[in-house]
Amino acid sequence: MLSNDKKYILYILMITILITMIACGKKIQKEEVLIEEIIPKEKIDIFKKTINPGESIYQVLTEMNVSNQDIANYTRFLGDYVDFTSIQIGDSLIVKFKYKTVKDSLFESDTLKQVIESEKKYLAELTYRPDIITSHILINNGDSLSYEKKILPFTTRKRIIKGSIDKSLNNALIKLGFSTTERQQIIKPLEAAVSFESDARPNDIFEVYLEEKFYNNEKISPTKIIYASYEGKRVRKKESFRFVDDKEDSAINGMYDKNGKAMVINAVRSPLNYMHISSGFGKRIHPISGRWKMHTGIDLRGGYGTPVFAVAKGIVSMSSRKNKGFGNEIRIRHGEMITQYAHLSKIYVRKGQKVRKGQKIGAIGTTGYSTGPHLHFGLMKNGKWKNPKNLRMVGAIQLKTNKLAKFKLQMKEIIEEIEQIDITQNQPSNSTNL
Ligand SMILES: [Zn+2]
Repeated sequence: MLSNDKKYILYILMITILITMIACGKKIQKEEVLIEEIIPKEKIDIFKKTINPGESIYQVLTEMNVSNQDIANYTRFLGDYVDFTSIQIGDSLIVKFKYKTVKDSLFESDTLKQVIESEKKYLAELTYRPDIITSHILINNGDSLSYEKKILPFTTRKRIIKGSIDKSLNNALIKLGFSTTERQQIIKPLEAAVSFESDARPNDIFEVYLEEKFYNNEKISPTKIIYASYEGKRVRKKESFRFVDDKEDSAINGMYDKNGKAMVINAVRSPLNYMHISSGFGKRIHPISGRWKMHTGIDLRGGYGTPVFAVAKGIVSMSSRKNKGFGNEIRIRHGEMITQYAHLSKIYVRKGQKVRKGQKIGAIGTTGYSTGPHLHFGLMKNGKWKNPKNLRMVGAIQLKTNKLAKFKLQMKEIIEEIEQIDITQNQPSNSTNL
């Protein structure tokens, strides 16, 4: 038997152990709570914005408090994949912001440890949707940017439209439900061969072969015109065929007559074979200074050393090396118009020299005030810079050699397809694309 004293000591001991255990338990609990507080919860803000008339991507991002420098970086990066100058009303932008925890200061002593943390909002993803199926996505990885393109599965339908006109071809196409853009696509190449104003007559006939894209039965623009023809009382049959070169943004892609001649009026040759505008004409945030500045031309994407062509015949009025901002630069005078080619790596012409349309005059470079290889292309009329995008440009006025052979093959395929569809009583053919 234990004495009362011993019982008392044991009792005290048990209570002490119990208190210690509770205390330790509390301590552990407290630390767990603290750890939970330190782990940041992922917070995401997503904004969806539809482009309104007169709005640009710069304005949209500025309103979301993205800095000028960041906007310049993001648009320059995406500009390699997207032509922002063709952003249209109704296109949408989706901006995803995330938050990261930043440790601002750390205070530590024997008894107290304090970390002051704050949340910093940053743009994590920027998505540009030119139509309901296409998404161009910029992903901000913190120290680098990456790009992803997503296309939802769509179906294509090809069909032939035949008709006769009462007033005009335009009128007949309106009645068939074609949009303004579609009508222009059909009429413009034919205009190169037919003077509709003087030669169109009632009952003249036309034929159009086209390819349309659908997503969930909704039509997605643009419609691809593959073939168009016109025949009338005063006009012999005129035909135009689509030629597709190897690349999607090839300037050589377009409508040609059966001899491989480009069906465009007053066209100049494009300065590059591949026309991709990475930065448009007008006010923009400069990619280097991060400030709003007037951009007096357009920037065309292209690899270092890519050949640059004279857009029309003329006389070289400037051939200058390392001319500050524009670097190696050529200017050509064509009557009242001057064209400018800047940041070149190579110059093949001298001041005063005559050049032909399509002559190779230099090569793409990154000389002067430039962030990477590209062609700055400018157009001056009566001493003022104009938007060169308004020039009608083609990659080839006349297809030659291997391009011509390739075109003849494609033309043959188009004719066969049309005949096939005619045989199957004008039933639309269905095919699926991914
Ligand atoms: Zn430029």
